[in-house]
Amino acid sequence: MTLNIQNHPCFNDSARHTFGRIHLPVAPKCNIQCNYCNRKFDCMNENRPGVSSKVLSPKQALYYLDNAIKLSPNISVVGIAGPGDPFANPEETMETLRLVREKYPDMLLCVATNGLDVLPYIEELAELKVSHVTLTINAIDPEIGQEIYAWVRYQKRMYRDRQAAELLLENQLAALQKLKRFGVTAKVNSIIIPGINDKHVVEVARQVASMGADILNALPYYNTTETVFENIPEPDPMMVREIQDEAGKLLPQMKHCARCRADAAGIIGEINSDEMMQKLAEASL
Ligand code: SF4
Ligand code: SF4
Repeated sequence: MTLNIQNHPCFNDSARHTFGRIHLPVAPKCNIQCNYCNRKFDCMNENRPGVSSKVLSPKQALYYLDNAIKLSPNISVVGIAGPGDPFANPEETMETLRLVREKYPDMLLCVATNGLDVLPYIEELAELKVSHVTLTINAIDPEIGQEIYAWVRYQKRMYRDRQAAELLLENQLAALQKLKRFGVTAKVNSIIIPGINDKHVVEVARQVASMGADILNALPYYNTTETVFENIPEPDPMMVREIQDEAGKLLPQMKHCARCRADAAGIIGEINSDEMMQKLAEASL
């Protein structure tokens, strides 16, 4: 198999029944607090909420990958998406990407992040031929952003309220522009939270489209207990469809997102096999 971005099952609808992806759960910490997130579980920006992954060291992750490929040779993409944020754990994330690239020169590499701390790593991501990066951008107006984020921890300082939302947004948009300068495919996730940003997601689409984002995944917020948003209902499918249709006039939409968990492995939409879970458990010993 050669490195071919058409083989990415999350970005190419026709590849998703043929090629699989694996997430390596090497990034436990997070650098922000989203009001919809309960950190007992995986990052909700990319992953299926309500499940928690084991955490592996970079070497354990490579061992797991070796075994997973034996079980599922159609894996074409290795992603890092948590269970926290990849760049709140940059040593682990970058070391894992280096190890995988060294051993599997043809593998597609992918990361999903909230975008706060990715900026200094973009050159190396491009050098490592990380072809796809997902940024979760839920607001392009700090007035709305401050409703969504409780705090942001950046360069050892805590920020709250509007300042936190401004800082996060600034870094996200700078990252998006730099990713495009380095030729990386950029997907933007925008989580639809009724009453908070549902009327705003199309504006997010407009802004990120103008900055070169390749695809938007406008996905429904998932209600979890013990969060600030625990009383906010999930958006109904009609609301999601209307937003996706409107945003679709501005840039391509991803509509088959399966909210994969941070240790997902195999074909999208299929649950991890028992054998795969066994390999994960062995790797974490
Ligand atoms: Fe949770 Fe992910 Fe937000 Fe961090 S970025 S608070 S892990 S949803
Ligand atoms: Fe990349 Fe997200 Fe697909 Fe994982 S689910 S491989 S992070 S696009």
